[in-house]
Amino acid sequence: MREKTKYDYGECEICGARMQERLIKQDFWLRGKLIIVEDVPAGVCSRCGEKIVKADIGRLILKLIENSDRIAKSPKISVPAVKFDTEGTIV
Ligand SMILES: [Zn+2]
Repeated sequence: MREKTKYDYGECEICGARMQERLIKQDFWLRGKLIIVEDVPAGVCSRCGEKIVKADIGRLILKLIENSDRIAKSPKISVPAVKFDTEGTIV
């Protein structure tokens, strides 16, 4: 018997390894704002880290991030905004 999973993500398009279902964080830019959706069910490649999200999950995410009430009530996190300059690469 195979292990019971909700959805078979098949094999990785890039390296051919088996995809495993994981809950991931997905980031989206919506009207100039970065939105992070947590606990998104996705297939993640155990070898190269490639991620795939099912089309119906993608549609649900779009509905979620278009819900401005939901966005307004969500906790805010700050992210580092690093300006690109070549001096920063000198360690
Ligand atoms: Zn892979």
